[in-house]
Amino acid sequence: MNMITNHLPTAELQALDAAHHMHPFTDSNALAAKGARVITGAKGVHLRDSDGQEIMDCMAGLWCVNIGYGRDSIAEVARRQLLELPYYNTFFQTTHVPAIALAEKVTSLAPDHMNHVFFAAGGSDANDTNIRLVRHYWALKGKPEKQVIISRKNAYHGSTVGAASLGGMQAMHGQGTLPIPGVVHINQPHWYLEGGDMTPEEFGLQRARELEKKIAELGEDNVAAFIAEPIQGAGGVIIPPSTYWPEIQRICDAHEILLIADEVICGFGRTGNMWGSDTFSIRPDIMTIAKGLSSGYAPIGGSILSDEVFDVMATDEFYHGYTYSGHPMSCAVALENLRILEEENLIGNVRDVTAPYLAEKWAGLGEHPLVGEARICGLVGALQLTPDKASRAAFAEGPGNVGVIARDLCFEDNFIMRHVGDQLIISPPLIFSKENIDTLAEKAWKVLDKTM
Ligand code: PLP
Repeated sequence: MNMITNHLPTAELQALDAAHHMHPFTDSNALAAKGARVITGAKGVHLRDSDGQEIMDCMAGLWCVNIGYGRDSIAEVARRQLLELPYYNTFFQTTHVPAIALAEKVTSLAPDHMNHVFFAAGGSDANDTNIRLVRHYWALKGKPEKQVIISRKNAYHGSTVGAASLGGMQAMHGQGTLPIPGVVHINQPHWYLEGGDMTPEEFGLQRARELEKKIAELGEDNVAAFIAEPIQGAGGVIIPPSTYWPEIQRICDAHEILLIADEVICGFGRTGNMWGSDTFSIRPDIMTIAKGLSSGYAPIGGSILSDEVFDVMATDEFYHGYTYSGHPMSCAVALENLRILEEENLIGNVRDVTAPYLAEKWAGLGEHPLVGEARICGLVGALQLTPDKASRAAFAEGPGNVGVIARDLCFEDNFIMRHVGDQLIISPPLIFSKENIDTLAEKAWKVLDKTM
């Protein structure tokens, strides 16, 4: 019998963790020296650690626990499904009710022209699906040379070889010889860091037109798709200027380039609408989904396809699929999550109540001497830290970076904000209350004071 339980002393759990568990995106030696914080439970928007401390989670786990922790009905649904049908696949002429029901539900929430979904186990493998899918789509349309996918520097689309290639993270490309052939990157629309003397609107247009230049350079007959997050999340919550997306849409339409909106973070309400694509008036051909689809209660992701894309793909067998595509328990959990999202009007509440209140408090934090820009859209935001507001200067990168210091101070004060370089970011559960926002604003101001 495995005797490792919540009741072991923290130091013992940490030692075992360091001895056997290699963590994602983590410097193992640094973590072992310090010891990982052991999370033992959670309820609502709060986590609990092995020392009994309560931690306010302003990141919804990894941008995913939108309905909050500790939902009984999800546990019930998962239990029932595991007893009834724990697993069966949807590969060879079979299907099952949870997959049918979730496909129907998800596509009913999607834009009208998108009525088909291909399931995956998360966002990375869904984006791998997209790479193969768009290339095969063009082959079926008699244009097999349309292969290249254009993405953006500093984008995050996942960690598999394909998804990390789509992503534009330099550090990831440096490990494992990425990107794969046929993926190229243009600049991100990060006005604060890269906009110089331009207005955000001028800069948005200029950055969008880099796509058109890249298409011209590659030849439109060689380009399959453009992929982007409506708001770049892991890159630092980069909210594009208002001119950016309309111009991107125009360019994709004009040059017959499929538009893939990676909705893994923005989807299911994060920006105050069902989709980030709604917030920015994007008309995608494909949407990547994961995270908020199940609020992180079970692993599931997928690609939602337009009717046009599906109709072409349906003319041939697609040699692609995952053992856990449409896993019955994950589908059942996702359905219950979406039921809660609708029944509790969580998205409407974000749009009408929480987001405006958070925007007000966030603007207040923007007045802090250390904050150059306080960006917010719905319930996702960033505080851009700067040594000099006027010049929009950046701090030196590295271990003593202010972002790291501020992030660690938050953690010590029992609330979680993440840092990306000089940016402190939040993405709280959609159930975040005004009271939670007050606490966050108060604690964040104190952390900023201490960081200076
Ligand atoms: N796409 C985006 C926009 C993401 O933020 C992420 C994860 O953070 C992914 C894809 C990858 O999803 P997963 O970690 O479920 O593979």
